[in-house]
Amino acid sequence: MAESENKPTNFIRMKIDEDRSSGKTTQVHTRFPPEPNGYLHIGHAKSICLNFGIANDYQGVCNLRFDDTNPSKEEQEYVESIQEDVKWLGFSWSGEPHFASDYFEKLYEFAQTLIRKGKAYVCHLNAAEVREYRGTLTEPGRNSPYRDRSVDENLDLFQRMRAGEFKDGACLLRAKIDMASPIIQLRDPALYRIRKVHHHRTGDKWCIYPMYDFTHCLSDSLESITHSLCTLEFENHRPLYDWILEQLEVTCHPQQIEFARLNLSNTVMSKRKLLMLVEDGFVSGWDDPRMPTISGMRRRGYTPESIREFCERIGVAKADSMVDISLLEFCVREDLNKTSPRVMAVLDPIKLTITNYPEDQVEEIDAAYFQDDKDWGSRKVPFSRHLLIERADFRDEAHKKWYRLAPGKEVRLKFAYYVTCDEVIRDEAGEVVELRCSYDPATKGGWSEDGRKVKGTLHWVSEAHALRAEVREFEPLFLDDNPGANKDQAFTEHVNPNSLTKSLAARVEPSLATAEPGMRVQFERQGYYCLDARDSTAENLIFNRTVTLRDSWAKIEKKINAPG
Ligand code: ATP
Ligand code: MG
Repeated sequence: MAESENKPTNFIRMKIDEDRSSGKTTQVHTRFPPEPNGYLHIGHAKSICLNFGIANDYQGVCNLRFDDTNPSKEEQEYVESIQEDVKWLGFSWSGEPHFASDYFEKLYEFAQTLIRKGKAYVCHLNAAEVREYRGTLTEPGRNSPYRDRSVDENLDLFQRMRAGEFKDGACLLRAKIDMASPIIQLRDPALYRIRKVHHHRTGDKWCIYPMYDFTHCLSDSLESITHSLCTLEFENHRPLYDWILEQLEVTCHPQQIEFARLNLSNTVMSKRKLLMLVEDGFVSGWDDPRMPTISGMRRRGYTPESIREFCERIGVAKADSMVDISLLEFCVREDLNKTSPRVMAVLDPIKLTITNYPEDQVEEIDAAYFQDDKDWGSRKVPFSRHLLIERADFRDEAHKKWYRLAPGKEVRLKFAYYVTCDEVIRDEAGEVVELRCSYDPATKGGWSEDGRKVKGTLHWVSEAHALRAEVREFEPLFLDDNPGANKDQAFTEHVNPNSLTKSLAARVEPSLATAEPGMRVQFERQGYYCLDARDSTAENLIFNRTVTLRDSWAKIEKKINAPG
């Protein structure tokens, strides 16, 4: 309890506190129940942080359960990626992962029990008829003509459904509740359907599969879950959740509690839509750094700490809302600012030659990874006559506020010397190709002995020593705040065509030759970058830009908090 007291409370914690003090709950037991039909996304991270976080805080446990009742869509690849992502986020589940499919036999028995109690029947209405009989929000439904068959007939038919005697869709097992209920979910919902398809774990053993509503509550109960946290769209399903457990008189009846799902601006979160982006080639895969998936964010350089912090900040609520992507980026930036060494990289290089520096001289400059914190150590950065600087750090005509390089202007090269631009070399097209500068040997380390100050400090690399690299920069996949509001196919029309740009001519300092895949750094003055863990090789270094240095959240936050 001690730890949970430090966390801001919310309606879920309040309910758990209540159940603990009344003695209803002794050990808190939650679960995270993904369907293995896609990779996890940032919305799932919210659910993971909530379920595992609550279990941790109350010294309880949390299960990982694959909700694999939908045979045609589930794949082993997803099962593996989901486990990897949960672990990467920093959580561990209790025991082995569970699979709803492990309960198929038990669920079948539960269904038989319902039939015996006269609470379920086999119905031969087809899908259109079922819909028609269901009624609407304003009109009650009508009883199925198959509703009053005998228990024995139902048991026999259900057994024959299992034996494969009927075609897909020929019949359903339905709960017998109330066709006039104001809650549509209670109008004799389907419990089992026939699907003659191969299942990734049970193979061809089953041709009937339990529906989500039937499976979920019973899986929760079988696993002794105390609090079953789910998103708001299941609120209307709660009466059915409770009805099934009550009819079956189970000993463990978990409490379902709903919370609002996370919606994030400028992206889509439905797995179906994410799959379309992958299959239609809008992105390179589920782990494309532009994807809102955990694997995409990992590849982009986001840290698990920053994602957990984000989930903490958004909190849980009962009302749906849209969270601006810049809050997530803010959390990433805050974390990387504390943890990423600073190194130098020139993304769009232009030559800078120091005409008074000896041709064959190389100085190995000791450069601290953090300017103000020597504990982080340092690396050697070679300095020579032939350097590269950022093209954007030079202008022909300097205005008053231009502190970078221009003809006649003096600047500091970080860690090295002051240099002054003496001459600008152009190609035939008039494009600047080289800046000829002179350096002041009395400014070693980037500080002038005579106290002379310069305002601009530029990053640089030594041309002969720098490593070639490809740098990938990302913009949101969608410029539209809420692209998910667009129906299916239409949403891909809003994909931002400029969401990926590659700088192929970038050069990075040689210390990065030993960077491990996934390593995160700050490129001085540019942003946070991460060595691509998938495509980068020693011969072809690839860096992904994780986030820029600019914080756009502060502005948005100010607007949100502004009075009036
Ligand atoms: P999708 O719509 O992306 O297919 P889903 O809800 O069908 O999502 P599941 O694999 O069933 O995906 O989700 C596993 C758990 O994660 C569920 O408990 C679900 O409520 C939760 N979850 C899914 N999306 C979000 C979200 N955007 N915010 C919070 N929780 C979510
Ligand atoms: Mg689902």
